[in-house]
Amino acid sequence: MLRSVIHTCSRQLLDFALPPRCSACGVIVAEAHSFCSDCWTKVAFLGTGGCATCGLPLQGTDADTCAVCLAKPPRIARTRSAVAYDDISRGLAIRLKYGHKVAIAKTMARFMAPLVADGGERVLVPVPLHRSRLWGRGFNQSALVAAELARRLLIPAAPLAMSRTRRTPPLKGMSALQRRRAVAGAFRVRDPAAVAGKTVILVDDVLTTGSTAEACARALKRAGAARIELVSWARVVKPSLLMR
Ligand SMILES: [Zn+2]
Ligand SMILES: [Zn+2]
Repeated sequence: MLRSVIHTCSRQLLDFALPPRCSACGVIVAEAHSFCSDCWTKVAFLGTGGCATCGLPLQGTDADTCAVCLAKPPRIARTRSAVAYDDISRGLAIRLKYGHKVAIAKTMARFMAPLVADGGERVLVPVPLHRSRLWGRGFNQSALVAAELARRLLIPAAPLAMSRTRRTPPLKGMSALQRRRAVAGAFRVRDPAAVAGKTVILVDDVLTTGSTAEACARALKRAGAARIELVSWARVVKPSLLMR
C-alpha cells in the first residue's frame, strides 16, 4: 500500500517535472499520451466504421458486414484496431518493446479503449509470448497494453490466462495455409476458469495476418470462452482499403 502511494507520488512528481511529449516525434505537447498537431494529421486512425465483424473498411456497400465475414464468420466476432500500420505506428510499437514502455502503453490504450465494445462479462487477455522471448525481453508488450486498458475500462485483465507453448517462426511472406500451420497448436489456455463463459478481448500490439490471433481464438473457444473479440494498436491494411 505504502509502496503504491510512493509510486503514485513519484510518478506524479515525474509528470510534473517532465513535460508531456508527443508519442511519435517527442516534441513537447500540452497533453500527455497524445500527439503533436503535426503528427496528429499523419496518424492513420482507422475509426469506428468498417465491417461490424472484422473491422476492415467497407467499400461500395450498404451492408454492415463484409462479404468475406458473411461467407465464413470468423472465430473472432469483432476485431478493432486504433491505427493503420505505418512508420508512425510502427515507431510506437518498437518503443513499446524497447523503451518508454509504460508511457507508450498508455498512449496506445488511450486510443484503443474506445474501440472495446460493452456487454457481457469481459476479460482482457494479451496475446502471449513464448517464454524464451519473455526471458529475453523481460515483459510481454501486449500485457502492458492490456493492463492499461484494464485501468481505463475497469475490466479485469488475465495476463497469464494463455501461454505460447512453442516458438513460432516469423509469418511474413508465408501463404495463408503456411501461416495457419505455423501457429497451429502453439497456444494453450493455462487458466480455463479465467475465460470460460466470458467475452474474451484479445489484446495485441500489431495485427498483421490475423493467423496468430485466430490460433489464440481456437484455444480460447476450446477452453469455453463464450465470445472472442480482438483489439490491437496497429493493423496492416492494404493501402487500397485506406481512404486517405
Ligand atoms: Zn509529433
Ligand atoms: Zn469483415
